[in-house]
Amino acid sequence: MTDSSPDDVLDDLINPTSMDGGSPGQDGPILEVENLTTAFATPAGPLTAVDDVSFTLRRGQALGIVGESGSGKSVTARSIMRLLPKSNVFTSGRVVMDGIDMMSLNDKQLRDIWGPEVAMVFQDPLGSLNPVMRIGQQVAEGLRVHHGVSKREARATALSLLQSVGIPSPEVRIDDYPHQLSGGMRQRVVIAIALACGPKLLIADEPTTALDVTVQAQILDLLQDQQRERFMPLILITHDLGVVAGRTDEVIVMYAGRIMERAPTQVLFRDMKMPYTEALFRSIPKVEYPSHTKLAIIPGRPPNMIEPPKGCKFADRCRYAQEQCREEEPELTPAMDTDHVYRCFYPVGSAEGNEALARNMETGRLTADGELTGVS
Ligand code: ADP
Ligand code: MG
Repeated sequence: MTDSSPDDVLDDLINPTSMDGGSPGQDGPILEVENLTTAFATPAGPLTAVDDVSFTLRRGQALGIVGESGSGKSVTARSIMRLLPKSNVFTSGRVVMDGIDMMSLNDKQLRDIWGPEVAMVFQDPLGSLNPVMRIGQQVAEGLRVHHGVSKREARATALSLLQSVGIPSPEVRIDDYPHQLSGGMRQRVVIAIALACGPKLLIADEPTTALDVTVQAQILDLLQDQQRERFMPLILITHDLGVVAGRTDEVIVMYAGRIMERAPTQVLFRDMKMPYTEALFRSIPKVEYPSHTKLAIIPGRPPNMIEPPKGCKFADRCRYAQEQCREEEPELTPAMDTDHVYRCFYPVGSAEGNEALARNMETGRLTADGELTGVS
């Protein structure tokens, strides 16, 4: 790679041509997660943060993972990346990324794949950057480590990357330190770092939560553009169902460490089955109000994950819940549509669901407006 121009380097990263022999083809899955379970030992007992999560991500696909705070989204991502603390954590299940069995890798092997295989963007851009290193060097670092390119080449490629993530006057900014940039610009730099090694999968965990609302949209657009341009699978994690609409192909809705519903994005918005998904939908911030005014948060609190209730984990907060829901946890079951699964005995829009709502109104569990009583 030593004679190639910076643009060639960038082209290689954007359009990797040399497919390593053993890896699955263009249409095969880039990521397979099977029965992933992660528990933390806590003073009060084991806390199961991720409980039997399975899903597959295809090449070029954008997957949203949505759920309230504490639902297990970050622990899922960190379990996949093998980025969890070393002690007091128990992970089981299977994670295969681009043909690599993630669970079998040692620390050195993990360092080799973080960057070229999979990269992650976190919520807080400042925390992800080194405060005493110029941004250009930080973007170039991965290229030097993983691709062994010369200093000059790496700088030129960093410049192209900074340009492609929308940093204005990148030839000047390349020598800035993180504190000289705004929050949105810092997150662009973090994205450039994540893209630098041409990852085969990008995981963005609440990448815009720390940013103000106009900047949020720009960063999400940038991620989406990069995802499409590079045909790069993306996992976009957010607490805001509104964020995944129009930006992902498929959505997983999580609650209490479980997948509650999974569907192609358009199917989910048109025909959501889970009352929890509906509750999230009702809580999407409306554009006419500032995004930080939570209009309708879901009443009640997520369950204690050390001693979760035995039935459906959402039952206490659910407008549809019946006796059965407290007794028995529904399995993930397929809907009529292909690729759509959910776990509920009284799904939204079904005859059973409508009867459950009517019964809950009769008993006074719901107000005449259909709002839950006795939960706040
Ligand atoms: P989300 O990203 O959806 O907001 P997380 O995945 O961070 O939620 O957390 C899921 C659950 O795991 C929460 O109950 C959280 O308190 C717990 N948890 C996360 N990290 C740890 C840890 N290091 N030790 C103990 N519990 C943890
Ligand atoms: Mg999180």
